[in-house]
Amino acid sequence: MARGGVAIDEQDLERELLRKSVGALSATRHHCADCGRTPLIGEALHVYAGPVTVCELCRPLRREAPERSERVRHSEYGHAVRVRRRLAI
Ligand SMILES: [Zn+2]
Repeated sequence: MARGGVAIDEQDLERELLRKSVGALSATRHHCADCGRTPLIGEALHVYAGPVTVCELCRPLRREAPERSERVRHSEYGHAVRVRRRLAI
């Protein structure tokens, strides 16, 4: 029995949810401006004016020095729980 709304096929719904989640993940990740590759964790990422980010493999293709270079961190970097020991007084 129809409820008066638009009928959506179950497979279409799954496909749309998958597209939405992949789009959300790709929106926040780094990518190289030259080759489009996503740099690996631990790889250096070079930032030029713009800001334009270039991966380690494409860096030799540019003559100018980058404004800064940074390591690609895991998405959970900075969110880990660390045990701190108290000093005995
Ligand atoms: Zn690249």
